[in-house]
Amino acid sequence: MEVFLSYGKRDGKVVHISEVTENGKACGCVCPACGGALVAKHGKGIDKGGRRPHFAHLSGQECDTLHAQQTGLHLMAKEILAENSEILLPGWKIERADVFPDDENKATYPFVEIELPSTTPTLCKYEAVELEKGFPGIVADAVITIRGRACAVEIAVTHFVDEEKAIKTEELGLPMFEINLADMIDETERVRIADAVLRYHDNRKWIYNKKQAAALEEKREEFQRKAEKLSRDMIEKEVRSQARREQAENELSNLFEAENYAKAVRRLRNDRDAAAWLEKYDFSAEVDDYPFYMDIPITGEFIFRCDRRIWQGKLFEDYVYNGFGGSLCIFTIHDVQKRIYQRKTIIPIDKAKAVKTTVVIDGTEREISLSFDVLRKYFDYLEKLGFISSCNNEYYSRRPLSMIPPKGEAAKQLSDILASVDPYSPNIDSIIDREMEARSRK
Ligand SMILES: [Zn+2]
Repeated sequence: MEVFLSYGKRDGKVVHISEVTENGKACGCVCPACGGALVAKHGKGIDKGGRRPHFAHLSGQECDTLHAQQTGLHLMAKEILAENSEILLPGWKIERADVFPDDENKATYPFVEIELPSTTPTLCKYEAVELEKGFPGIVADAVITIRGRACAVEIAVTHFVDEEKAIKTEELGLPMFEINLADMIDETERVRIADAVLRYHDNRKWIYNKKQAAALEEKREEFQRKAEKLSRDMIEKEVRSQARREQAENELSNLFEAENYAKAVRRLRNDRDAAAWLEKYDFSAEVDDYPFYMDIPITGEFIFRCDRRIWQGKLFEDYVYNGFGGSLCIFTIHDVQKRIYQRKTIIPIDKAKAVKTTVVIDGTEREISLSFDVLRKYFDYLEKLGFISSCNNEYYSRRPLSMIPPKGEAAKQLSDILASVDPYSPNIDSIIDREMEARSRK
């Protein structure tokens, strides 16, 4: 795009073409960049070629018009500063990215709560202006004095304050803000340029501001403190949960020692409770007492805090006898487990014993996860008796016509075995399995 020069210099001051009435050489202006003589070309407003009133160098004069235009705008902005006494100081805000580091722990930082301060721009009187003021290492476009304190102002048209200048400013402790006039390069009226220099909100920012720097420092320290505390808390929590886990594992381990095991299972036996519960089950219309398949000892049965007849009765009622009201009920052990945890099936569970761990049972290491294992073992018995069938970890419940197990032979075997084994042995699952196998081979 062709650039038209709108600024000239006359008597040492920058003038805009709109402020010049004479045409041609009579304007008496020189170029703000090269100092060469200019002619004013007013024409008749903006012509068909998009040309508006502008200055041109006398023919033969070599000059970079864009550079001259930028220089003119820069000079004019400084003059505007010098001629006025009130300016909008930019606000500042502390950005999250400046406080929260982008490091390997950042996933935890959303839990660090920090309020980030900010200020709004404020209109402010200044009592003095000095242009092109030198400091050790830098020259400021302008320095204004506000209530006796110096504040540097940088006018940016194409050259913005770089890192090096920003660092020097900070070292000097000199407040500095920058006004961005890049959008003003085609502006045709001096009054709008003055507004942009003195009053626009969005075109200025602090390069260095003591309060902002102090706030940033403070917020970074606060971050450090809070992040360290968070990390300590998380480690402590981890240690505590590890300790709880170890304790639960130890307790479980002890519980599987023969003597303790028998005690724990015996303690759950409660004829009165069992009798009271039997009254409530739907199937109680058909039986006077719990059938043998609702009283099957299972390794780790103390995961449920009640007499085994109660929880086995409840599972039989829900998943076999009533089948949740459907003719065919499909479920997995996880479904059953979930309903117990959500208290949709009212069976009291001892969650502390639900840890996945390894215990020694009768001299053999065994991996256990009781809240799953015990349920699966029970439903496997119900399958052996023909009440349900299974395929790919899914169980299908068929509502039986009576409380009598559909597989009579298996039922007789199991009931005989249950009458002959020690129900208080931690190895009860294997004992029953071995007996079943031995009998089926006969
Ligand atoms: Zn020039």
